[in-house]
Amino acid sequence: MSNLTQEQIDRVARLVIGRLQSRSAGVSSEVPPSGAASSGVSPGNGIFPTIDAAVEATRKAHLQFMQMTLARRNEIIANIRRRMLEHAEDLAKRAHEETGLGRVADKIVKNKLVIEKTPGTEMLTPTAYSGDRGLTLVELAPYGVIGSVTPVTNPTSSIICNTIGMVAAGNGVVFNVHPGAKNVSIYNIRLLNQAITEAGGPPNLVTTLVNPTVESANELMHHPGVRLLVVTGGSGVVKAAMASGKRAICAGPGNPPVVVDETADIDQAAKNIVRGASMDNNIICVDEKEVLVVSKVADLLIAAMQRHGAVLLTRGQFMQLEPIIFSAPLQPRQQTPVNKALIGKDVQVILSKIGMKIPKDVRLAIVEVEEDHPLLWTEQMMPVLPILRVSSADRAIDLAKEMEHGYGHTAVMYSKNLDNLSRMAREMNCSIFVKNGPSVAGLGYGGEGYCSFSIASPTGEGLTNPRSFSRERRCVLVDHFRIV
Ligand code: NAD
Repeated sequence: MSNLTQEQIDRVARLVIGRLQSRSAGVSSEVPPSGAASSGVSPGNGIFPTIDAAVEATRKAHLQFMQMTLARRNEIIANIRRRMLEHAEDLAKRAHEETGLGRVADKIVKNKLVIEKTPGTEMLTPTAYSGDRGLTLVELAPYGVIGSVTPVTNPTSSIICNTIGMVAAGNGVVFNVHPGAKNVSIYNIRLLNQAITEAGGPPNLVTTLVNPTVESANELMHHPGVRLLVVTGGSGVVKAAMASGKRAICAGPGNPPVVVDETADIDQAAKNIVRGASMDNNIICVDEKEVLVVSKVADLLIAAMQRHGAVLLTRGQFMQLEPIIFSAPLQPRQQTPVNKALIGKDVQVILSKIGMKIPKDVRLAIVEVEEDHPLLWTEQMMPVLPILRVSSADRAIDLAKEMEHGYGHTAVMYSKNLDNLSRMAREMNCSIFVKNGPSVAGLGYGGEGYCSFSIASPTGEGLTNPRSFSRERRCVLVDHFRIV
């Protein structure tokens, strides 16, 4: 014992206290072994049978959490990052196995990105106003219990990202996860609880349901114990949260266009578009969903995309594929429902439906289409990328704006013309506008800035962070404490 430093002794003490707290709350601090969470999930360690029970447990945990120091909060966040990093691969594999969406390697990248680049308490800088009439301090306080609804497309990265941001801001959170990613989400939330209690935090600061459904999501949205909603998904969940009467931060759908003009570095554009549009098989909301290229350089771009690994579909091949990737008659210039069974699948699986066999390392199919084709206007979430030739950069920007449907989510442009870049940035009016890079650069992957997997365009927060999950509180001292 005499060889241990004080820091090591404190760490052991915190570990023991964390375990005892977990036991006294009637939960096991052990995460079930692989597969144990997959069926007949048992309550405990953040998992509850009802929304009422989950909200009540998180409310109690939040009260305890409020008694803790900021130093402890930082230790908890640091331990969440440490433990989630240990499980980044495991969580990616489980998410892929359960949902059948995307690519394991890309899911590992997403998990690591949120673990490393989601901001913590450093975002909660207070503001001071000092003058003749004294000193006013504005601080960022937690809401209390947040209700969070998460998508099937990024189950673990959304849960980890939201947990770090919300807990850093001093909140507890009740998740209603996507039913299609229930098992991996529950597993993830157990791990988060374990990481929190291990660092001396209260049990059940992060909770969820044994059986999440759309109905339970609505119950959460209307629960009197929930002060703020943060929902991530398609238009339905955004509409439901906005109609709840509560303050809601809504991260909704997108249809990110890419414009390539005649001044662009074509090889760089081609390489980035192939990589970006195929990231997790196109299921990330920011992924490139359609390309508009100025005619003068269209052939060069398409050839370069093939050099960078994309497979070009002929008109005949695509005509065969259309009724397979769409599940309804094609609607010109409109979003047309897609075949859900093919969302997030490898391009090999999709093209095998028309008898095409392509090498294993191909990540993306590309196809030239007419302006009215619904693939340009639809958030397809599969690695089949439509390309449209246009007469000029201005025409491309006008069409890109229409195709984005006013979501204000994400847009990308490859150009060296400052006028064109500025015009597109202004016209698109998106939460994320990436110039000369893949759209994931807007999430801090290969670009500067922090990461978020809840990009709130309908409600205007953009990439959410601990400030988004905080209330401003002002404290005023009249006529004193201006000390200069
Ligand atoms: P989804 O809308 O089907 O489901 C999202 C979540 O909302 C799930 O938990 C689901 O159970 C719940 N839900 C759905 N309809 C609901 C309703 N009417 N009432 C209450 N809850 C409801 O979306 P998904 O397939 O899981 O995810 C893909 C969609 O999410 C895409 O449109 C994508 O662009 C979007 N997305 C956006 C962001 C962002 O940051 N803006 C991030 C990820 C995904």
